[in-house]
Amino acid sequence: MKTIDELIGEGVEGRRVFVRADLNVPLADGVITDDGRIRAVLPTVRALVDAGAKVIVASHLGRPKGAPDPAFSLLPAAERLGELLGAPVAFAQDTVGPAAHDAVDGLQPGQVAVIENLRFNPGEISKDDTERGEFADRLAALADVYVGDGFGAVHRGHASVYDLPARLPHYAGYLIATEVGVLRKLTEDVKRPYTVVLGGAKVSDKLGVIGHLLEKADRIVIGGGMLFTFLKAQGHDTGSSLLQDDQLPAVQEYLKRAQERGVEFVLPVDVLVAPEFPDLKAKAPTHPETVAADAIPEGRMGLDIGPASQELYAAKLADAATVFWNGPMGVFEHPDYAEGTRAVAQALLDSPAFTVVGGGDSAAAVRILGFDENAFGHISTGGGASLEYLEGKTLPGLAALEN
Ligand code: ADP
Ligand code: MG
Repeated sequence: MKTIDELIGEGVEGRRVFVRADLNVPLADGVITDDGRIRAVLPTVRALVDAGAKVIVASHLGRPKGAPDPAFSLLPAAERLGELLGAPVAFAQDTVGPAAHDAVDGLQPGQVAVIENLRFNPGEISKDDTERGEFADRLAALADVYVGDGFGAVHRGHASVYDLPARLPHYAGYLIATEVGVLRKLTEDVKRPYTVVLGGAKVSDKLGVIGHLLEKADRIVIGGGMLFTFLKAQGHDTGSSLLQDDQLPAVQEYLKRAQERGVEFVLPVDVLVAPEFPDLKAKAPTHPETVAADAIPEGRMGLDIGPASQELYAAKLADAATVFWNGPMGVFEHPDYAEGTRAVAQALLDSPAFTVVGGGDSAAAVRILGFDENAFGHISTGGGASLEYLEGKTLPGLAALEN
């Protein structure tokens, strides 16, 4: 993989450099609630600006349906990028149309333009190679060089991630180089005990990674929405909690294999429940009940691990040498259900282990709960991407940079 340092060494003054970033930041009513992903691409953009490149920054945001949709405009992210750079950033209201070409044509060496959300064009995520290829051709017409730095998207075989680098000289940006370096430490010569903490909401995605981690980790700590599928697999009722019935046989198989391999699964002993999912906007008190994990009443939804589980999880993290954490322990966006996630974050800070936090929401939780993100070994910008890397899968966006 050639890196951006090589590109700068070759000389990039006046050349049009397409930076595929991941500016997929969380927004609430058009306001960015966590700008970590924008900050993460700054080193790459700054280096190109300093080297006199004409920098074109592109990204997806959310899941628009292949057409322009103001709710998913990249404009707020472009404005924030400009603030962080301390220089104005041009914004094009289309991706490969006249506005994008005007914006790029107007760049002086050392200036930056952001083009609109790549997913406003159906070619970006199309499964049809021709349709994707046509969009990639039109993106390629904007630039002379490609720099891949959107780590959060490298597990996607999308036009801007996979097809475009094949059409231009391509290099890895600083973020991707750093992320890959860190993830290597979780797959090669891992320092043991190696503990993995999994939570969050995307149950099926995350259940998939467990089969692979069973071969690598010494201990797997489970929280978030997926814990209820585990409780159910152990024969307990889970009320109206998030549940993936179709995964029960797989989870039973995991529990059996873990026992055979001597891998410890840690599940909560108590959980916080409420009659319904909390209102994350109003954040009004919901008066959750603490119940035993094996006695969730009918009609109650589990929304966080309970206080006894917080202590248990902290103890299970204290002796680790390496920790990978993906996914909040509960619905941390509401203060009533943030303590489980806070307890895990604190336990990681208290432990001398090399700690990698992966996942957009996990990283946001660390910052929103007021922790110093620099105190963690590494906070990855890509949840799905880091999980797939750990599964040993080939990531299209990394493969494309290697060829
Ligand atoms: P990441 O982005 O870190 O990979 P996910 O996107 O998988 O994490 O999950 C984050 C979401 O999981 C949060 O919005 C949180 O509210 C939700 N979540 C956590 N625990 C539960 C639960 N018990 N029930 C429903 N949602 C949950
Ligand atoms: Mg998420």
